[in-house]
Parts: sequence; structure tokens; C-alpha cells
Amino acid sequence: MNETVGTNGLIFNEPLLWEKGVSGRTGFSMPRRDVDNAPVDENLAGKGPDFPDLSEVDLVRHYVRLSQWNFSVDNGMYPLGSCTMKYNPKTNERQAALPGIAGAHPLLPESLSQGMLQLMHELSDDLCRITGLDAVSLQPAAGAHGELTGMLIIYAYHAAKGEKRSKILIPDTAHGTNPASASLCGFASIPLASNEQGMLDPAAVAELMDEDTAGIMVTNPNTLGLFEENITEVAKIVHDKGGLVYCDGANMNALMGVVNMKDSGVDVLHLNLHKTFSTPHGGGGPGAGPVCVTKALEPFLPVPRVTEENGRYAFSWDHPQSVGKLHAFWGNFGILVRAYSYIRSMGGENLKKASQLAVLNANYIKERLKGTYHLPYDRPCMHECVFTDKHQQAHKVSTLDIAKRLMEYGFHPPTVYFPLVVSGALMIEPTETECKADLDRFIEAMKAIDAEAKENPDLLHDAPKIPKVRRLDEVAAARKPCLRD
Ligand SMILES: *Cc1c(COP(=O)(O)O)cnc(C)c1O
Repeated sequence: MNETVGTNGLIFNEPLLWEKGVSGRTGFSMPRRDVDNAPVDENLAGKGPDFPDLSEVDLVRHYVRLSQWNFSVDNGMYPLGSCTMKYNPKTNERQAALPGIAGAHPLLPESLSQGMLQLMHELSDDLCRITGLDAVSLQPAAGAHGELTGMLIIYAYHAAKGEKRSKILIPDTAHGTNPASASLCGFASIPLASNEQGMLDPAAVAELMDEDTAGIMVTNPNTLGLFEENITEVAKIVHDKGGLVYCDGANMNALMGVVNMKDSGVDVLHLNLHKTFSTPHGGGGPGAGPVCVTKALEPFLPVPRVTEENGRYAFSWDHPQSVGKLHAFWGNFGILVRAYSYIRSMGGENLKKASQLAVLNANYIKERLKGTYHLPYDRPCMHECVFTDKHQQAHKVSTLDIAKRLMEYGFHPPTVYFPLVVSGALMIEPTETECKADLDRFIEAMKAIDAEAKENPDLLHDAPKIPKVRRLDEVAAARKPCLRD
């Protein structure tokens, strides 16, 4: 068969619409004219915009083809560690699109927004129940924004006691946004080395924790996908010196209905609704990073807060110790609707089951791949597992080569070279929405790639050959982004 003739359905050489246009083509049929020509006013006659002439089908195919160059959770497994790329039930989209919700204007008076306020109030209650904490702000627009809010709350808490503490302890297994958020709030991040099991070491915390340290920022599960087993002990050490415990709960997907965060010693925690609570995300799209706190920190939450009295809902602004307002209007409301829809349609039992399955799936992958890929921390994991390219390096095959080749097997690559504490990391998060058959297909692909690394490493060095964009010059891509081609 001549490879230049015909198509397998995926066309990667899509011209620009201007190159496709053929003079005189149109995308619609006008009824035949039944009046005489009339001269056009000369002032209006100039040259129109330079739009190409196209038929409807030209246009539809162009955009559908472009959409097929993208990988999404809706067309395949997307095991991007730390990102919880799980399937988002379409009913959540439908609820967010209901005309009464999608069309609600943020400047409507409270009396005409009772349903919206009720939704925010009930969602806040649900998030308190899920985390065990006492109060929540739905305002932050993303995980990192939630972290900044949490840091401001911690700062305000110490300030209210007449203290100005300057440091925050940040374990080396924390998410990369954590030190950035702490610095943005003016704290110095003090790095804390994890022990040989990839865990927080209470002795190391005790050594560094002092009365100039505002608290600790713990990612739990940490970026190795491990549960911080010493969290309660660590929290006690921090509390004894007057500090607070911040938990990055972006990956609550592993813990819903299983761990009560307040009981484990956490004072402030953010959630990523766009990860755990089933909102489509990626590419910088909108998110929501609610911040949950203990009763003692409630006065510092952002304003306005949603209150309820005798079945009437209202915004309350009068919280003099509040850190202020952190988002225009009331946060990314559409994301809140999706999360509410997800939580209510699942119910507590199913949320717990989702977490259990997420953990089961990650452990299944870990156990089945651990002979083939090097597993730096061989312990039961949470929702994700971290391998390295150590075995494949013997054949001069790297994590990047493995990730690129995986695309040719139809899978989105896992997170690579993160966390930084693991050299050549491959961080795999299957999520609970993958069935065993799909996990097996992924595992088989990873094993096939390992076999190729031994037999034909160049196949991996040259990958990917199928996708539109092959190997990027990543330095040039970051320094000189070309967004057109
Ligand atoms: C994704 C993630 C973040 C950052 O969340 P954004 O919404 O991208 O700002 C922070 N911490 C952890 C552990 C994460 O997985």
C-alpha cells in the first residue's frame, strides 16, 4: 500500500484554514435572491476581513482533527502522578450547565441567589465532613492558591498572638508549590530531609522546630505516594512549640472516608476540587482549592463566608481577623457545582470506595512492575507509585525515552523526573476509574518497553514517531515558545 495515499483516520498534516480555503466556497446556502441588485453604499464597500472561503465540512473536519491530536482522559489512560487525571462523570458537567446555574450572575442580590448560596454552604459542610476539619473557604482558585491562603492564615494566627515567626519547615517530599507558596507569604522555607523510608522523621523535626518557626507544610500522601505515618507525632512536636501543621491535601483521592485529618493533627489543609472531586483539569484550566481549618483558625478565613440562619443563606463580611478576599466574586463557582454534584451523586460510602480503589490500583501496578522497573521505596503505597529508570540505564535508556515510547502504545506518560528526591523518577497514578483490564494493558506496555530497551534501545531513543509533535527541544520550548505550529 502506498503510504501517501488514503488515511487511517488520524491526519497529522493539517493545513491552516487560510491554506485550505478555496475562493467561492461557502458554509451555507442562501435562498435565491428575489429582489433586484442594489448598489452598496461606498462607505461600506471597503475590503472585508481576510477570512478564507470554506465549506461547513472543511471547518468541522479541521477542528475535529486538531482535537484528535490531543490526549485526554476521555480517550485513554492518563496516569500522570500527583495530578489525579480520573474520569469525570458527565452528569457533573450537565449540572454545572443547568441554565439557572450557568446563567446566575455573581452580582445578583442574596435574596435571588438562595440556591447558589445553599450549594456553597452544603459543599462546605461536605468538605468539612470529608476532612474532619471545622470550617472552610471555597474561594481559592487552585491548589497553590489554597496554599497561599493557608500560609496567610498561619501568619495571621501568629500575628493575632503578637508573634512574628519567620520560618516554615518543608520536607523534601513535599509538592514543589509548597516552598513557593511559603516564600510568597514571606516565610523562609527550611528544608527537611525525609528518612530512608521516604517518611518524615520526628527526630529531624524536633531538631529544627523552634519558636521562630510558624509551622510545617506536609504533603500527605507525600510525593512518593506514601502515607506520612508519623504525622501525629510530628504534629505534636510542632504544636508543643506553638507552631501549626499545614497539610497539602491535593491528593485526598487516597484518603477520602479513611483518614480524619483533624485527628491526625492537621490545622489547615487545602483540597484540589479539580483533582479529587472530579472536575476536568489540565492546561491551566479553572480549578478550585478550598481551604479547611480547625475552629481556632476559623476567624482568619477569607471573606465573605456563607452563613445560614433559619433556612436563609447570606454572605457575611464582618470578620475583623480575616485575611481578606482572595478571589473576584465568590471563587470559581462552576467548579464548586461540579464538586457538589460529584460528592452528592457518590455519597460517603462511594467516596470511600473510590479512595480504596485508587490505592488498590496503584499497589497493583507497583507489585506487577516492581521486578521490571526499579522501585526505590518498596512499601505499600497510596494512590500512586514511583519507579526509576535505574535498570534501563544499563542500556542507555532513560525515563524520558520510556515516557516517549509509551505514547506510541496509546498511553499518556506518567509524571517524570518528579519527585526530585528520586533520580529518574516515573510517578504513576492510575486513579480508581481504570478497570483491571486497562491496568493490565498499561503494565504490558511498560514491560514491552523494558524488553525493547534491551533489544533495540534506538527504538526508544527515537520515540515518539507517531504523534504530531516528536521530541521537543525542551530548553528552547521553555525559552522561546512558538505557539503557532
Ligand atoms: C497538584 C498539586 C498541587 C498544585 O495544585 P494546582 O491546582 O496546580 O495549583 C499542590 N500540591 C500537590 C500535592 C499537588 O498534587
